[in-house]
Amino acid sequence: MYHIDVLIQGFPGRAVCHGGLGWSTIALLRSDTRNILVDVGAFGIRKPLERQLKSVGVAPSDITDVVLTHAHYDHAVNFVLFERATVWIGAEELAWAAAQPPRFDPLPELYVDALEHDPRVRRVRDGDEFLPGITALAAPGHTPGSLIFHLTANEVPVIFTGDSAKNRAELLSRKVDASIDDAVSTASIELIWNLWRKVPGTIVVPGHDLSLRLDEHGAPVYIAERKAGINAWFAETLEQTTTFDMSAPR
Ligand SMILES: [Zn+2]
Repeated sequence: MYHIDVLIQGFPGRAVCHGGLGWSTIALLRSDTRNILVDVGAFGIRKPLERQLKSVGVAPSDITDVVLTHAHYDHAVNFVLFERATVWIGAEELAWAAAQPPRFDPLPELYVDALEHDPRVRRVRDGDEFLPGITALAAPGHTPGSLIFHLTANEVPVIFTGDSAKNRAELLSRKVDASIDDAVSTASIELIWNLWRKVPGTIVVPGHDLSLRLDEHGAPVYIAERKAGINAWFAETLEQTTTFDMSAPR
């Protein structure tokens, strides 16, 4: 049985002129013996993540396990902050990521290299129940070795989809933005749907969106309220800022 907190909400969007925001979901799973982070976010989230951990009374050194859906920078780089944690990542994902030359893509080459050589890293394969009540399933497409995590230790199952299904729109359309293989991505989203429908009440936690459940008609509905925005310095003092609310539409 795990107590689950989404410490950082994922956001389903990209900047108009500045590419992907990298605002990904970070979840904390706590049991009697473990404190697990599912994905750990990008550099920009370090301060909010520190605050969120503090607010639930968990120190970075209390984190026993870091579980990575895939190797992209906005999900993976902060594994270095949790020195005592075992780091779990797909064997196929890490082998693939480590073989890629630097490209104009979201792979953090130096952090992938660090993952490849870090003795704390454990490689996970499709179907492994690698932590109690948490099974990894291969859900490729976004990357070749992307994993989703199916948590069945709780009364209500939870599926952490990473970027195999980044948001509600991808779940509904069965299409993935930024996939390396569209057909493979669609098959992975079908896998998610099959698990989602199997047990009523099952919660899906996407990589870049709020958590969802299915309503009585089988339609995905959000189970949290979005909070996002940007403060910009367009004036001549630091005190005066312009806020762009990115929470709507609800
Ligand atoms: Zn990604």
